[in-house]
Amino acid sequence: MESSHVENDLVNILFTEEQIQARLAEMAEQITADYEGRDLVVVGVLRGAVMVMADLSRAMPRHIEMDWMAISSYGSGTKSSGVVRILKDLDSDISGRDVLIVDEIIDTGLTLSWLVNSLRNRGPRSVEIATLLRKPEALAMPVEPKYVGWDIPNEFVVGYGLDYNEKYRNMRDIGTLAPHVYS
Ligand code: 5GP
Ligand code: MG
Ligand code: MG
Repeated sequence: MESSHVENDLVNILFTEEQIQARLAEMAEQITADYEGRDLVVVGVLRGAVMVMADLSRAMPRHIEMDWMAISSYGSGTKSSGVVRILKDLDSDISGRDVLIVDEIIDTGLTLSWLVNSLRNRGPRSVEIATLLRKPEALAMPVEPKYVGWDIPNEFVVGYGLDYNEKYRNMRDIGTLAPHVYS
């Protein structure tokens, strides 16, 4: 049975809206300083990174270009399929430019390690990663994000762009799902 109020399905709030905004502001300050005077293309990974992109980019008091990629590494549910493919490519030419990939979570790192390699082949000046969350225990590929919001335990989280079967993305907080949701 489906409950009508999304927050009822959460067992535990990990990060509140306020905590997320405060951390993103710190990350934005660091990014702004690091890329001062440089031509920055910020690439959001659809669909999970939509909220992080919106808030991180608005916390940067400078011009940036915002572009998007959609890649698929997960089917439905909570397990990685191990297959990565491009569903939507960049609109911009990134050759000679500084690229910052923005994602909401690094789990195994499979998706981002593949994406970084793919973008490096296009001749950018640099490619770095900013992620709100990272699960160090799950990391299976050598991915080194320059900016990380928080490291979290190896459990499935939802909210603030993160989905379970395409639900919960629109929650403002990040939390873990109650077991009854999976059954
Ligand atoms: P990776 O390739 O690093 O294993 O997984 C990357 C993608 O898997 C993320 O961008 C996200 O879409 C999904 N993912 C990984 N861990 C979680 C999680 O705990 N919750 C949700 N909702 N999605 C996750
Ligand atoms: Mg993502
Ligand atoms: Mg997902």
